[in-house]
Amino acid sequence: MVSEKPVVIITGAARGIGKGCALELAAAGFNLLINDRPDTDSVAKLKLVQAECEAAGVEAACFSADIADVSVHEELLDTAQGKWGRLDCLVNNAGISVKSRGDLLDMQQDSFDENFAVNTRAPFFLTQSFSRRLLVQGVLPNGYRSIIFISSINAVMLALNRGEYTMAKTAVSTAARLFALRLIKDNIGVYEIRPGLIKTDMTIPATAYYDELIAKGLVPQGRWGYPADIAAAVRAMAEGRMPYTCGVPIAIDGGLSVPHF
Ligand code: NAP
Repeated sequence: MVSEKPVVIITGAARGIGKGCALELAAAGFNLLINDRPDTDSVAKLKLVQAECEAAGVEAACFSADIADVSVHEELLDTAQGKWGRLDCLVNNAGISVKSRGDLLDMQQDSFDENFAVNTRAPFFLTQSFSRRLLVQGVLPNGYRSIIFISSINAVMLALNRGEYTMAKTAVSTAARLFALRLIKDNIGVYEIRPGLIKTDMTIPATAYYDELIAKGLVPQGRWGYPADIAAAVRAMAEGRMPYTCGVPIAIDGGLSVPHF
């Protein structure tokens, strides 16, 4: 049976921006397959997100796996299609920061490799598999087919102390535009969101540092961003409310990346 509700897959949804997107898309009426890592803490957190989504009146299921392991991607997609008979939206959100911030000249190879595995390789190959299935499936009632990449403002603003993250996010930004161009004639919308400074666990190590910079005017809007700020844009994209665009990156950053003096 094919679900009447559209179906979204969100990676890294146990907390932070992924969780915010899950709650927003649940409110928008999507059934959700939410993913995060298989460790005990993440599994427990993901179940709480599942319960919160279901409270909004939709169906939600958990898929706990390391998304950097490309061999799990087909099973993830099978799970969503098997349960609801359709796929509509993929949110490539799961991401990691660097092992430790520091001089480019001291960057470790394992941190470089891990950043590219999670932040670039995983979303690229998951999108490749997801796209193939969307093309076979075609357009369904109540359906708008979309793929959303959560990259980073570091795709355009260099962070010298997080070079591996900056490079991996720049590469995934390029992947988003490549897929956008490849899939536009099939009416599949591919989008990229570049978050600025968003208050999540990822930014905890640098909270005090950024608090001070924000107070001094680094972010023209004068505040941190929150997962809900990103989720609002994700919802507009997933609902197809940005027609006639092709891979245009949207900075959700309170003006951080706007050149000014
Ligand atoms: P977060 O609070 O650290 O949450 C990320 C979630 O993704 C965590 O639950 C994490 O699980 C999960 N995850 C990481 N690697 C995974 C993997 N290989 N497989 C499955 N799940 C995985 O980070 P966030 O701030 O919400 O960031 C979400 C996305 O936004 C990331 O792509 C990040 O790069 C991007 N972003 C964030 C900011 C910001 O200021 N927060 C700015 C720009 C871009 P574990 O904890 O188990 O790793």
